[in-house]
Amino acid sequence: MEDKAIVIGSGIGGLSAAIRLANKGIETHVFESNPFPGGKINSRSINEYRFDQGPSILTCPEYIEELYKLCGEDFSTFEMAKLESSFKYFFDDGVELSLKHDRKKVIEEISTKLKEDPQQIDKYLKKAEMNYSLIAPIFIEKSLHRWRQLLGKTLIKALLKLRHFKLFSTMYQENSKFFKNKRTAQIFNRFATYNGSHPYKAPAMLNMISHLEINVGPYLPKRGMIQLTESLVELAKKQGVQFHFNETVEEIHLNGKTIIGISTNKKKYDSNFVVSNMDISLTYEKLLPSIKHPKKILNQERSSSAIVFYWGINKSFPELELHNMVFSDQEKEEFDSIFLEKKMFESPSIYINISSKVVTSDAPKGCENWFVLLNAPINTGQDWDKEIEIKREFIIQKLSNTLKTDIRPLIQFEEILDPRTIENRYSGKSGSIYGNSSNSRFSAFYRHPNYSKQVKGLYFVGVSVHPGGGIPLALCSSKIATDCLFKDFNLI
Ligand SMILES: Cc1cc2nc3c(=O)[nH]c(=O)nc-3n(C[C@H](O)[C@H](O)[C@H](O)COP(=O)(O)OP(=O)(O)OC[C@H]3O[C@@H](n4cnc5c(N)ncnc54)[C@H](O)[C@@H]3O)c2cc1C
Repeated sequence: MEDKAIVIGSGIGGLSAAIRLANKGIETHVFESNPFPGGKINSRSINEYRFDQGPSILTCPEYIEELYKLCGEDFSTFEMAKLESSFKYFFDDGVELSLKHDRKKVIEEISTKLKEDPQQIDKYLKKAEMNYSLIAPIFIEKSLHRWRQLLGKTLIKALLKLRHFKLFSTMYQENSKFFKNKRTAQIFNRFATYNGSHPYKAPAMLNMISHLEINVGPYLPKRGMIQLTESLVELAKKQGVQFHFNETVEEIHLNGKTIIGISTNKKKYDSNFVVSNMDISLTYEKLLPSIKHPKKILNQERSSSAIVFYWGINKSFPELELHNMVFSDQEKEEFDSIFLEKKMFESPSIYINISSKVVTSDAPKGCENWFVLLNAPINTGQDWDKEIEIKREFIIQKLSNTLKTDIRPLIQFEEILDPRTIENRYSGKSGSIYGNSSNSRFSAFYRHPNYSKQVKGLYFVGVSVHPGGGIPLALCSSKIATDCLFKDFNLI
């Protein structure tokens, strides 16, 4: 048989893996349960509004650029804006901060509004930059499970700076040592949510995430986040990838410990490589029931989930930006509620994304498309309908107070995403968004490798495996997985 690869799922991890495989000349087929590609990166148009359904923040576009370059395509055709401002923050006592994309202005804003020492903020941001540049090439861009790949100058450089990584501190401990004002710490603790974790438990090393948003700045593709999916599907098709939508993979077939193909709800297919972009726990549970399951890895604590209200708002609010956070003043209680009690917190922080601030065609003139997100626990059978009703009321009251306008009559229509939808629509185990949480010092080492140690020809991509959650990491997972495959089968 000619080399043939099957990719299970068309999330960003699956799409980028398919591009890399087809680019190597391997016949590549992507099977997707949904009628649309992109997994969580999809979009819905309702009346004259358009909503990105999942991610709203894009960092590290260089990983997309890498795919364009690999395929000999011009990355300048992937149009995107580097945002002037990263985030606007609202605190209960009326303090508001807008963090511009300019380190000097960030320092000025935080030191003026939150009375921090400007030098301390500068030191923090420089440290985040240094840690990122030392850590990313090891923990994010390489397999942690093939030691030989890690050895070299980069590892030595990182080991020499080990004390800077504060291996025994949490994000919160490090941030509250750095900053006098607990609000400043809360701004930086928030980055734990970028991989669905608890800042009072997640390792201090994750403070480096702030570098990508504050030092480098976030981006927004010209047509919104959906452009990521659309562009990668186009790139994949140009490489010859074949897509099979509405086709769920139900079993991975083995001959002994070697891949021989899959069965879907429609047919059986042969292949010698399978790359699964399905949640790793579900890949084992549903598709590989007969092999040994790595229980320790699969039983790690899951990342958080979310409730999202997609609202068409019949007014525009100049005081809001593209990304807005209305903070709860009970930060620790909120995260404890999500992770320890598995309950929605009564007065949570509220994230509001309004893509029509930049992509003006996303809402009718004078209106805005609000994506209102609350962090939520994973689905353990809570009464979500009741939670949604209570939280909807909470959000309306809180935002009406913050914006000094009754927003209730402005909501023209709504759609809702909750942990049950995430679980069913994207096969996210228990509705978790980012696979395992990073709520322990060792979480990076308890993610599943990007290849199977038991089955020849089986590889894994996406947020539930190494290196973890979020778009940039899912893109890295596909490079690591396919590099392993090419090496294992002498396709380099
Ligand atoms: C509300 C929300 C907000 C987010 N915000 C951000 C953000 O701002 N920035 C960021 O970087 N990340 C964000 N994320 C996370 C981001 O969406 C994910 O990290 C990333 O998109 C996950 O990609 P993935 O490759 O793991 O695949 P997924 O998107 O999880 O896709 C997996 C695909 O596999 C398919 N599939 C599963 N099983 C099968 C099967 N058996 N047969 C066929 N198909 C199957 C599913 O249908 C799905 O399409 C957010 C997520 C959500 C839900």
